[in-house]
Amino acid sequence: MSLTGPYDPDNIFAKILRGEIPAVPVWQDDHVLAFMDVFPQSEGHVLVISKTSRARTLLEVEPEVLARLTAAVHRTARAVDRALAPEGISIMQFNGEAGGQTVFHLHVHIVPRWADRPMKGHGHAPMAETATLKALADRIAAALEPD
Ligand code: AMP
Repeated sequence: MSLTGPYDPDNIFAKILRGEIPAVPVWQDDHVLAFMDVFPQSEGHVLVISKTSRARTLLEVEPEVLARLTAAVHRTARAVDRALAPEGISIMQFNGEAGGQTVFHLHVHIVPRWADRPMKGHGHAPMAETATLKALADRIAAALEPD
């Protein structure tokens, strides 16, 4: 998958948005969804996506969508910090297959970091138990500040 090309309506995040496959949500509104990465690179790895845009990459996104997405990343990262007290947080976003992207619906990764827990490799982390992800999502959601 190159940097440019048509949006695939059957990509996995589009299916999550249509409720065709399950996900573990943290929070959502009419514009954005924050949900747990099922192959977390560290405990509390959250993804944030737009519900309205068909942008595959950052290069394609509409500025107003990017503004909402960025605000959602900020709100979610602050909740991750309050809930899990990491020592650092990596905010990551990949574009194009050569850039490390595997799902072609624009998304931002929020990965909590601890100095003594190495981050698992992107695309190489084991699948997490749903119950574990739900417990983390609940803790992060409980730490959200008012919108
Ligand atoms: P990227 O490689 O930047 O496109 O990131 C895609 C992310 O989606 C990876 O971190 C995957 O672990 C994650 N992922 C893939 N399938 C699912 C799924 N069904 N639910 C939640 N996260 C997923």
